[in-house]
Amino acid sequence: MTSIQYLKGVGPVKAELFGRLGIETLDDLLFYFPRKWEDRRLPDTVARAAGVSEARPREFLPFLEPAPVIRGKVKTVRDLYTASRLRIFKTVLETPYGEAEASFFKRHNPRFDVFAQLRKDLKEGRTVWITGVPEDPLFMSRVRAEEYYADDDEAALKMHIGRIVPVYPLTEGLTAKFMREAAYGAVMAGAAEVWDFLPPGLARKRGLASRDQAARAIHFPESDFELVQARRRFIYEELLLLALAWAIKRRQTRSVEKGFTYEIKKSLLTPFRGNLGFELTSAQRRAINEIFADMQAPTPMARLLEGDVGSGKTVVALSAMLLAAENGAQSVFAAPTEILAEQHFITFEKFFKGLDVRVALLTGRLKAAEKKKIIEDLAAGKIDILLGTHAVISDGVKFKDLRLVVVDEQHRFGVRQRAALRAKGDRADMLIMTATPIPRTLFLALYGDLDLSVIKEMPPGRKPVKTTEATEEVALLAAADEAALGRQVYVVYPVIEETQAADMKSVKAEFERLKKLFKGRRVDMLHGRMPSELKKRVMEDFAAGRTDILVATQVIEVGIDVPNATLMVINNAERFGLASLHQLRGRVGRGRWDSRCMLVAHSRAGDSADRLRAMVQSSNGFELSEKDIYIRGAGEILGVRQHGDMEFKLADMARDGDILGQAIEDREALLAGDPDLLKPGNSGLRRRLHDLYAARWNLIDLS
Ligand code: ADP
Ligand code: MG
Repeated sequence: MTSIQYLKGVGPVKAELFGRLGIETLDDLLFYFPRKWEDRRLPDTVARAAGVSEARPREFLPFLEPAPVIRGKVKTVRDLYTASRLRIFKTVLETPYGEAEASFFKRHNPRFDVFAQLRKDLKEGRTVWITGVPEDPLFMSRVRAEEYYADDDEAALKMHIGRIVPVYPLTEGLTAKFMREAAYGAVMAGAAEVWDFLPPGLARKRGLASRDQAARAIHFPESDFELVQARRRFIYEELLLLALAWAIKRRQTRSVEKGFTYEIKKSLLTPFRGNLGFELTSAQRRAINEIFADMQAPTPMARLLEGDVGSGKTVVALSAMLLAAENGAQSVFAAPTEILAEQHFITFEKFFKGLDVRVALLTGRLKAAEKKKIIEDLAAGKIDILLGTHAVISDGVKFKDLRLVVVDEQHRFGVRQRAALRAKGDRADMLIMTATPIPRTLFLALYGDLDLSVIKEMPPGRKPVKTTEATEEVALLAAADEAALGRQVYVVYPVIEETQAADMKSVKAEFERLKKLFKGRRVDMLHGRMPSELKKRVMEDFAAGRTDILVATQVIEVGIDVPNATLMVINNAERFGLASLHQLRGRVGRGRWDSRCMLVAHSRAGDSADRLRAMVQSSNGFELSEKDIYIRGAGEILGVRQHGDMEFKLADMARDGDILGQAIEDREALLAGDPDLLKPGNSGLRRRLHDLYAARWNLIDLS
């Protein structure tokens, strides 16, 4: 590996700066990709300004930004002083399309002439290139100059002007121009020898540029087409490697045997069914069958259960835990909030009435003695099912024989937390649940190491929640109407306390106001920072119908199940993500009455208008999550950004869905013929995967 220091113009000082960007070798620099590209070709700028339509019509490429470029003969130069010690060097250039003006700005310095060099370089009559920022976006022939080059400066023409130029993420001390020159040096020194690890058949099949071509063109493309091709090549590469890594990881998980089998005795399952008071939907039954089959299989289960808000995932998980209990095994059920864990506990107790199964609830609010008792009972095997918040993950919690791990609302847990929980058992089965359904390809890419069960059907009798945008006044009038009918209402605000942001309403302030406004009605408040006892009481009051209007934060987003609640008012709706809005809406429409969701927006900045429209148009979580992906980007909604599995240089799951589809297809074909990538043609892929993922993902099958 050649150190970056061998590059012309890079000494120890610059090398240190490169180090900050993670660049140590020439190769690192070659694969340090531009953040975007600037189109500095001619004759666009002045021609465009002059209305000359000589510029070729082009496809719009979001990553390629047109930059104003002027090429012309210097006609006049003027040196101006301003009151604010700023000096301006203004030149007028003659171009084939008319005159253009470029101004250089510098701070005045009484000790020397800050424009001496410019005056020398931009002599009248000389032909030069100038680029910079347009002073007015509509008037590109007047620029605030940044860079200039002589017309016969061939080196500059290769790198900086008259072409598409790369724009890199920088660090203090490294200028854009220097970076470009360094990258050019790296391309000249290394691009031809780039190692291509893709099997040649694959690149041909997908019409991909070769890797050496792409490595040059990603920095210095000769055309739009080359740039698009280079990007496509690297995006494909990134996605194929990820898809392969997932598949290998998955096979690895499957290759261990859990050494334990389950027998469906029905000693608990049958009375449990009797307690439910409803029939399972066929989608629920199918999910249960898939899970039972996994549990009875010789290798551990790793399954994701996807189902829209209110589709009835909990009873599916309860069935699995009862199967474990029937076989003398312990299970744990992790929920992301105290409120949700407590709600679940009430549900569990109701459905387990008369069953010989021991359930305990472990949350942060337990007293030390209570906690100690649970931990002892757990270790002694006196508890079959442990339900709790993140508290169940803590070190002190040890099981006698943990065989099943259930994680509810999985996006609220990190990958590491899930792993820690699973490690409390020995090759335990794992079921994770989510109400954020995702498109199939995305699932394969993100959770390629999991099996998938989907509950697409809602329990019978559910009515869609009518969703509208409303003013605050209309929403509060509707709240009064519902309360008068004996129904209950949630009114949600984005923050607990008043903040600097004047346009955000707070739960505390609005609670005081609404109490006065709804005289004679029982108004209550719920937010995450209240003492646990109080939260519990507020929830119990609301569930029992003792409260008419509950003013709350997003804490009520998950798990709360009060059929008599028929109106959800969401204030500052523009502040919430689509997934949250949909979850909040899922709190109503759970009983026999028609329900409504009213979105009160205080602004429509950014993509909020898109989100609100999507909510009004669709009540289907699948549809919304697809939209959400386009609106917000995939990583964010799935909470994967933080865990570092998705550090792509160029690929973007949401945007590059078609390439991802191809990568997954190719992965399947590759692994079908050569599951361990042992064929000579696949050895490059194998090596590359090893370099990228072996340590990070603990992929032992690769070496
Ligand atoms: P989620 O999938 O959002 O976690 P829950 O499991 O909380 O949904 O179920 C929502 C509500 O629907 C609960 O009150 C649950 O008891 C009820 N429910 C679940 N399955 C059925 C069914 N098959 N028929 C009727 N109600 C059901
Ligand atoms: Mg749930």
